[in-house]
Amino acid sequence: MNASLPRLSWVASANGHPDFPLQNLPLGVFSHGDQGPRGGVAIGDRVFDLQAAVQAGFFQGAVREVATIASRDRLNDFFALGATARQRLRHALSDLLAEDSPQRGSLQATAGLLHPMDECRMHVPAQVGDYTDFYVGIHHAMNVGRLFRPDNPLLPNYKYVPIAYHGRASTLGTGDTPIKRPHGQTLAAGEEVPTFGPCKRLDYELEMGVWIGPGNEQGQAIAIERASDHIAGFCLLNDWSARDIQAWEYQPLGPFLSKSFATTISAWVVTAEALAPFRSAQPLRPEGDPQPLPYLLDPLDQASGALDIELEVLLLTGQMKARGMAAHRLALSNTLNMYWTVAQMVTHHSINGCKLQPGDLFGTGTLSGPQAGQFGSLLEMTAGGKQSVTLPTGEERRFLEHGDEVILRARCQREGQVSIGFGECRGVVQG
Ligand code: MN
Repeated sequence: MNASLPRLSWVASANGHPDFPLQNLPLGVFSHGDQGPRGGVAIGDRVFDLQAAVQAGFFQGAVREVATIASRDRLNDFFALGATARQRLRHALSDLLAEDSPQRGSLQATAGLLHPMDECRMHVPAQVGDYTDFYVGIHHAMNVGRLFRPDNPLLPNYKYVPIAYHGRASTLGTGDTPIKRPHGQTLAAGEEVPTFGPCKRLDYELEMGVWIGPGNEQGQAIAIERASDHIAGFCLLNDWSARDIQAWEYQPLGPFLSKSFATTISAWVVTAEALAPFRSAQPLRPEGDPQPLPYLLDPLDQASGALDIELEVLLLTGQMKARGMAAHRLALSNTLNMYWTVAQMVTHHSINGCKLQPGDLFGTGTLSGPQAGQFGSLLEMTAGGKQSVTLPTGEERRFLEHGDEVILRARCQREGQVSIGFGECRGVVQG
């Protein structure tokens, strides 16, 4: 056998699968039939049931305990185990699911190990103690800053501080329930007094989510050199945003009710190990930008701490759905548009002694590119609602309307590597 050929799986749909080949093996929490939530692994168009596999005795030795912990109804304890345990489980899964697995026969003869993914209900994979949303997409910061401050789009702290605000963990979901249009206070143009009513400028934000693994003690900062040890994995994240509510409420303390009504994530946790082949050098800062302060600067992180992941936003309106049309791409972007690395986000978050815990979730902030076709929000695409976007049905959008479904996708591709993806992050607007 040619050593350069990628390892295949006996789960036929995994081979050539755009998201979940054998090289990905993301973890999630699912339920199937009348069985309660449990840990599983995406492989092709199937979910490998960790609880059933543990019970049937397919994990031996030290990895059995890891698989048992990963098979629970939330992944917090698994995240807390850290990289060594995670890698041990990954190797065992890869060996079990490989085409040449010695256990292939007994795996295939065991009922209830693989469930069709389209029959599974996906859950938020961990109990999220805290959710923090960053603002590291430099082009989004520039595009939005330009709308509000044409002469001074980027405030001076941006190139020193990984900016963030504390989000709301209680409204995180995987998109299985519709996003109800929020009501709130808005200030109409030219008015001095706000009115109360439904949001008229509902938007999405294209972001990556970062799952925190082992935490830190309060008062003990995470050094930049160790930050990657604290990252368990990644997902897609849609930070639904009520722009009119946001515009009125955000000063001086930042977003509040304009964001806290809903955040949708993709359900599968793509591990740091699966993403290792798609690491990249952090793009050089433009000439004249300051270097990060020493506590945020690590040569190894600068050399390989960025991610090269293609990101996509699509829109499927109610009318498009009724007419059987495909979702329409609104934007194509990339995680290389992050001005700060994920390690810098982790270190900065903890540098004051703030305690991070297993299952905490970070959003990166909207990851737009600099050009049209790369904007990760309607706010940017429509220049603040001034221009409309025309869809293939002839429908026009400035902001989201009832029945609109927003779909985020991510794809990792590199010469000589098997491509992997994240599965979709989907949510439908209601009202
Ligand atoms: Mn955001």
